[in-house]
Amino acid sequence: MSMSHEYDSIAALRDALTTRKVSATELANSALQAAQAHASLNAFLHIDPELTLAQARAADARLASGQADALTGVPIAHKDVFVTQGWRTTAASKMLEHYTSPFDATVVSRLAQAGAVSIGKLNCDEFAMGSGNENSAFGPARNPWNVNHVPGGSSGGSAAAVAAGIVPATTGTDTGGSVRQPAALCGVSGIKPTYGTVSRFGMIAFGSSLDQAGPVARHAKDLLELLDTMSGFDERDSTSLEFCDGVANAPGRIRSEFNDAVARFDANGSKPLQGLRIGVPTEFFNEGLSADVGAAVEAALQQYEALGATRVSISLPRTKLSIPAYYVIAPAEASSNLSRYDGVRYGYRTPSYTDLADMTSRSRAEGFGQEVIRRIMVGTYVLCHGYYDAYYLQAQRVRRMIANDFQQAFAGQCDVIMGPVTPTVAKRIGDNRDDPTADWLADIYTLGVSLAGLPAASIPCGFGGADSSLPVGLQIIGNYFREGQVLAVADRFQQATDWHQRKPELK
Ligand code: GLN
Repeated sequence: MSMSHEYDSIAALRDALTTRKVSATELANSALQAAQAHASLNAFLHIDPELTLAQARAADARLASGQADALTGVPIAHKDVFVTQGWRTTAASKMLEHYTSPFDATVVSRLAQAGAVSIGKLNCDEFAMGSGNENSAFGPARNPWNVNHVPGGSSGGSAAAVAAGIVPATTGTDTGGSVRQPAALCGVSGIKPTYGTVSRFGMIAFGSSLDQAGPVARHAKDLLELLDTMSGFDERDSTSLEFCDGVANAPGRIRSEFNDAVARFDANGSKPLQGLRIGVPTEFFNEGLSADVGAAVEAALQQYEALGATRVSISLPRTKLSIPAYYVIAPAEASSNLSRYDGVRYGYRTPSYTDLADMTSRSRAEGFGQEVIRRIMVGTYVLCHGYYDAYYLQAQRVRRMIANDFQQAFAGQCDVIMGPVTPTVAKRIGDNRDDPTADWLADIYTLGVSLAGLPAASIPCGFGGADSSLPVGLQIIGNYFREGQVLAVADRFQQATDWHQRKPELK
């Protein structure tokens, strides 16, 4: 069943809403129905029609009074790591199975203030740790293009819900690739902004020096609508930026950069991207890249050349080191962040125990899933006295070198960097079950960007796998604070191609 009210873009939706062709309540109802009809995708963890419809009615009242904001009446949904006052927030963990937050995450409240109507909370990997959404305590989410395949992780529900046409846009989080990777594997678009652009307040912490929220949608322009609204300084997040390159980090900044880039492209006539230098890292086309993904990415680069851009070969020599560096730093931060789940204050508590220490240790052993426990073990180990210098400090040094490599490329060689998002198309659910670290290798093209704190998007650029039935994503990486430019570059590709418009046939 397809959603009866699927509009092509948020702009089209806004138009239909403000001209009263459709009401926010109708849109919310059809999204709720679509979520129900596609329940087998396991994209949603918590739905509460009453909460959704109350937001929709409020949106309709604003629309009726002519006071609509940017997103008034637009249905969205949130990854279940953003805390919400209404809906439960579990981070897809048994640890938080019955948790409801007393407040909303900044991302949630900013989108709500702009009038967006939330359809519910989306499935993901437990505490956002994973690359396939298979680590959810509530079962894997499924890829709408083939339900036997993963949607990618950790924001699998966020990408699946957009690909299935349930909602036009969702929120996700990206610590090492979790917005870009599921977007790529589900044939939709997603962007992770520069670290510090979007507030982490109310986003359940995984790796605090890496975590950034980002939107998922079909169109780059729709990503802009959400990202511009979500972003901005927040005094409740100590790493939130007040300024981005001298410009206040506030809604409007990314939009105006996008508009400037679009104006420049428009002025170039039939070769809109003339002058744009695309850096293509040789290390992203290594032996691990599957032929089908490589071919789709190559075709996309040729499309960019046809639009006037020039391609320059660059080197990001420490690409391979991003995996060991990330898988030391992220678990180190995770082990510290997750120490708060002790069975005392909130979250799961074991039913039977002997004393306090036994209660904490049993609660954690029973409440956390295997991958989360693995990360806590690794993280605790690398932070131990004696190993700290050998592992954690060393990883931090490598992190700095990786960031410098990107800066060197941006300094003289290129304006944006492009390459694959993932080495292969979506794997089958269960494929890497016996080898948990196999999933870690699939992050090779996304981790460097996260370690460096750079903005990067993924947009659909073709298909691969058996019968060319599974989507491939193109990664577009920008320099710090250039998310508006990244989105404008993505938008130009989407004006010339229709990969982002392709939809899976759903039963
Ligand atoms: N796959 C990576 C990990 O498991 C990234 C996850 C993320 O970005 N949240 O850590």
